[in-house]
Amino acid sequence: MKTIIGNWKMNVGTRESLALARGTLLALRGRKKLPDVVVCPPFVALGEVRKVVARSHVALGAQNVAAEEQGAFTGEVSARMLAEVGVSYVLVGHSERRQLFGESDEMVSKKVSRVLSAGMVPVLCVGEDGTTRGQGNEMDFVASQLRSALHEAHLRQKDRLLVAYEPRWAIGTGTPASPADAVAMHAWIRSLVGDLLPGIKSSQFAVLYGGSVDGSNAYAFLREDEVDGLLVGGASVKLSEFTKILEAAAEVLEMRS
Ligand code: PEP
Repeated sequence: MKTIIGNWKMNVGTRESLALARGTLLALRGRKKLPDVVVCPPFVALGEVRKVVARSHVALGAQNVAAEEQGAFTGEVSARMLAEVGVSYVLVGHSERRQLFGESDEMVSKKVSRVLSAGMVPVLCVGEDGTTRGQGNEMDFVASQLRSALHEAHLRQKDRLLVAYEPRWAIGTGTPASPADAVAMHAWIRSLVGDLLPGIKSSQFAVLYGGSVDGSNAYAFLREDEVDGLLVGGASVKLSEFTKILEAAAEVLEMRS
């Protein structure tokens, strides 16, 4: 299976979110094989987008979650609140959260546990910056992010975990990683997660790539077995680009069936 996640960030309000959600549903029409599709609107649009995607092939995702369970945390949104509004996937530890909002490894780890406890799927984002890759330390860096994020995670049999490999230097820059680099990192992530969460089944776990994916390069990633899907930022709010990405995923799935 392939999973395509659209992270709409703080780029669209409720009206545009509804149009994007409807457009996404239209883009999936008439396809024999469909990827799993998740859209992540801003918090304020979740309730309205839920009505559009209800009973469809498109699931609802959130861009962030509070590390705490409940209480006096002004401005925060808890995992239980997200589950209540119909969210089933939650981005955790996105590089913008880590870089711009000081999200620590400890917070990321707490968030992963909160999301799992509330019965949703964490989409754990990891990835090195350009300097780290330049020094050849990207594998160690990602390993350390995974170790801290997963050291308290307990997956029950029904739980799932997605890891998104998003090299920081590729996010929003127009310079994606090469598919070969993504494949190498995904294989590493897969083996690490197997060690960190012994007993996890392959059906419970997937590794996505994110960073400057668009309609012209999506297929090159998706045709790789190691790439279980894509986390898409900028191109996910351009319906024509997102449609091409969904088509690329459907094409890969149709070819394999
Ligand atoms: C992201 O923010 O998760 C992302 C992958 O962004 P972009 O696709 O714009 O690089």
